[in-house]
Amino acid sequence: MSQTSRFWSAVTRSLTPYVPGEQPKLANLVKLNTNENPYPPSPKALAAIGGENGADAARLRLYPDPNADALKSAVARHFAAHGIAANQVFVGNGSDEVLAHAFLALLKHDRPIRFPDITYSFYPVYCGLYGIEFEKVPLDAEFALDPAPYLAPNCGGIIFPNPNAPTGRLLPLEAVERLAAGQPDCVVVVDEAYIDFSGDSIATIPTAIALVNRHPNLLVVQTLSKSRSLAGLRVGFAVGHPDLIEALERVKNSFNSYPLDRLAIAGAVAAMDDNTHFDATRKAVMASRDTLSRDLSALGFAVVPSAANFVFARHPGHDAGELAQQLRERSIIVRHFKAPRIDQYLRITIGTDTECRTLIQALADILG
Ligand code: PMP
Repeated sequence: MSQTSRFWSAVTRSLTPYVPGEQPKLANLVKLNTNENPYPPSPKALAAIGGENGADAARLRLYPDPNADALKSAVARHFAAHGIAANQVFVGNGSDEVLAHAFLALLKHDRPIRFPDITYSFYPVYCGLYGIEFEKVPLDAEFALDPAPYLAPNCGGIIFPNPNAPTGRLLPLEAVERLAAGQPDCVVVVDEAYIDFSGDSIATIPTAIALVNRHPNLLVVQTLSKSRSLAGLRVGFAVGHPDLIEALERVKNSFNSYPLDRLAIAGAVAAMDDNTHFDATRKAVMASRDTLSRDLSALGFAVVPSAANFVFARHPGHDAGELAQQLRERSIIVRHFKAPRIDQYLRITIGTDTECRTLIQALADILG
């Protein structure tokens, strides 16, 4: 394939697109590379997608609701304790799409935006696509985010994942609030793809959605891909002040007036309403994360404390790229990033307990 073509626009020529995590076609792999949930989605979501119980999914002849009102209401219901109304919710095709719209609608200004130097690699891609300048703010030696440098003047906006990816480190809610309060003229986007894997109960999940009614510049983005086991359905949402939501709607309606299909809306509503399944699944993942972290430490790995459904770990005596390759030869796929500062780490998604045991046995074997 040619790298450029005379038919390409200047924009196309300048793009460095995102490369998604590998989705191998082979069966029987232990797939711990893209932070999917090892457990199935809510049975109620599957029934709704199948059009059971009179669910809307049975009416595919008709266009979906362009506003996905049923889903916005379900999200608002789920966060009722934080005083969220349906007009504070935006929904999209995975949180990647929601984030893309946030970059164009809310972060594209004439000043550079700020994000951590180690973070979700899609952010610079959106900046390239929309011509947004950015400054990478270094994390400290333990990969913790210090809010202070983000509070300097000349800021076009702030975005970071919480917990961060790929490190798994959680920024306390007080620090998130410091950022929002300290840059009241900038939008602060908190990408909470992995937030549900923290908190002893649903009520104590440390989501910044608890802060949006105090900070009109705070936009919180979540996804159903991780804690709700629905990566294949492609549903994400944002919660914030109605003015921020209106900005996202304007951009969305300039691209695609039907962001979510009927199946996605029906499945997502049922999943958001099924707190029993949600809580059981996230707790199972958190328990396996503790066991896996202990087992990796026992093998000599340094494991970054994780608040997500993956762990980030390094072995002082072995090259991470080679470890990833040797695991692959044993049909176990983990993520290795060839990037400065993190190229000696493996990012390992929390699998079922059986998958985690298979991984630990393989590593014990490789490390001798
Ligand atoms: N944010 C972060 C930090 C992620 O790791 C991911 C998953 N790759 C996403 C957003 C996007 O997830 P999705 O589009 O499946 O909602």
